[in-house]
Amino acid sequence: MPPIDFARLQDLQEIDLLLDALRAEVAAIESALADHAEIETARRNLAALTKTQVQANAALQDAELALAALTAEVENKSKRLYSGAVVNPRELEALQADIAQLMQQRAVREESALQAMVASEEAETARDLQQQHLDALEATFATREKEFGVRLKELETDIPRREAERKALLEQNDRTLVVTYDSMRKRLGGRVLVVVAQGRCTYCNISLPDTQLRRTQHNQEVVYCDSCGRLLYSAS
Ligand SMILES: [Zn+2]
Repeated sequence: MPPIDFARLQDLQEIDLLLDALRAEVAAIESALADHAEIETARRNLAALTKTQVQANAALQDAELALAALTAEVENKSKRLYSGAVVNPRELEALQADIAQLMQQRAVREESALQAMVASEEAETARDLQQQHLDALEATFATREKEFGVRLKELETDIPRREAERKALLEQNDRTLVVTYDSMRKRLGGRVLVVVAQGRCTYCNISLPDTQLRRTQHNQEVVYCDSCGRLLYSAS
């Protein structure tokens, strides 16, 4: 009885493992290209920080307008006080009290305008930093997209080429053996044809019993590893 040609099946397996890896690479690239989560988070944060900045600017403008109005009022009343138009002492006193009160209000307004200015500057800095962060993320993504595009093109030609190689190898292999091999691949995944070395299954590393070892020696029958269930063959 001629030995089973496991070397040819091994060639088929190598192609299959390579195809598995290439297809996994395509899937990984496609999922990376579809994943915009980081950029979307950065965009949302930028929108929130922009809103904060706009509000801080509006608050600053309000504070400055209120301050300017008080300043103008103080100036007007001071002008009137020193114009000589008011001579009645009681009226003069009331005017002075008025001015003093307005100046107190202005001091408070000055303080809040200063705070509004600090808040506005801080909001602007935070927004600018977020914009830079988003720009960097988008630039990195664009570069990766380009690299991935190149790799996808390579894979698009490589995979059909390997599939054609697989088809040719299928025809060279024993049909029944291929059916067994294919169903094992579906069930176990990855490497299912395993060489025996130094009396061990090289997949699960178990020591094979002598009877089993003898059965694998001349590759004349299909032998499965008792431990991992894979197909055993002898290289020599
Ligand atoms: Zn095993």
